[in-house]
Amino acid sequence: MDATTFRNTAQEPSTWGELKKDFDGGECYVACYQKGNDIYYASTPKTSAIRPMWLLVMARSSRKVFKGVDVLTNYASNANARSNSETGIMQLTLDNSPKISKTSPLGLTAPTGGVFRISLDRIQAALAAKYKVPDAKKTLVNDIQSFTASVKDSEGNYATAGTHTVHRLYLAAAFLLLRKKHQGNSKDGVVALVVDKTGNVVSWGMKNPDVSCWHGETSALMALGGVAPAGGCVFSTLKPCKMCAGLIVDSGASQVKAYYGQDDPGDDADNTALDRTGLGKTLDAHKAHNMPYGLMVKPASAAKATPLGSALHSGFSGQKGTVGGIVSPIEYVNSSGAVELMAATEEALKNKIKKYKATDVKLNPNTKQVVEYLADFLRLQGISLD
Ligand SMILES: [Zn+2]
Repeated sequence: MDATTFRNTAQEPSTWGELKKDFDGGECYVACYQKGNDIYYASTPKTSAIRPMWLLVMARSSRKVFKGVDVLTNYASNANARSNSETGIMQLTLDNSPKISKTSPLGLTAPTGGVFRISLDRIQAALAAKYKVPDAKKTLVNDIQSFTASVKDSEGNYATAGTHTVHRLYLAAAFLLLRKKHQGNSKDGVVALVVDKTGNVVSWGMKNPDVSCWHGETSALMALGGVAPAGGCVFSTLKPCKMCAGLIVDSGASQVKAYYGQDDPGDDADNTALDRTGLGKTLDAHKAHNMPYGLMVKPASAAKATPLGSALHSGFSGQKGTVGGIVSPIEYVNSSGAVELMAATEEALKNKIKKYKATDVKLNPNTKQVVEYLADFLRLQGISLD
């Protein structure tokens, strides 16, 4: 979906009366700005994690949408009154401007042109239709945020089945989607999965380079109306940027953890809300201390298996600016330099599925259920691993 189509999807004609009613009524947070003769506004319930300024920038889908305009709100009088996600998107797109002022309703004057309202429902519906997830919900694990070890008895049976092996499988599925859904030379190389407490993928998204605010994570979270399931996890192939990190923290009410596979050394992903809250971590190395297992993969030309995250990081650092002018980890992950690593990631997931189909091995039931579920989830996206 291109930017114009998205913009038309996201906004609907409204009236000056409706805007004034929301602005004055005390039930909603409202932000608006005037451009030419038209006025654009967003209005969200005070209980919503989605704040209007964030929605306005995202839905207008232009990096400089607030450039040179005054944003009037009924809730934020300055930059310090913004939410995490509003701060994140301002940092990413606007060098921390615009001018924000909390206005008396009397200060608003009717525009001579049209009034347009950004509709969260319309955005949510468009994204949910694009990124399908299984309807049925299951209990695949008791708590996706835990990463307990397994305990086996003397016979090799599982006395207690741990969960520390499942997280890397979700990440492998995200990388597989990234690779299989990649289009031509598009800079679309980020996929994020939102997983609920019991392991169901409730939403996913992929970076859409045509609409600047549709990153993998924002797409997945906006498809849920900006509400991430408490106790869940976001698995992202790339370290979430400032915008996405702010939304993850807000949408999960600080009850959601984020794990990612590929580091992003750029400014856009530096000192994010996930970094500051400690809710986001890279999932790397086989047995990191006090962390779930990361992905170990064996590229075809390598002698031994290597942690995927650090291999991608060093691969990108080595190629930056040299091969075909690669300047970002998003380009690197779909470049020739990462082909072997991505193929090895697919192989790792395939091997796991094969192993867990076999009947003569003693299986961790948590891993077994997640493996079977992810195979079904990927099949729904047109990807078969059989
Ligand atoms: Zn992002």
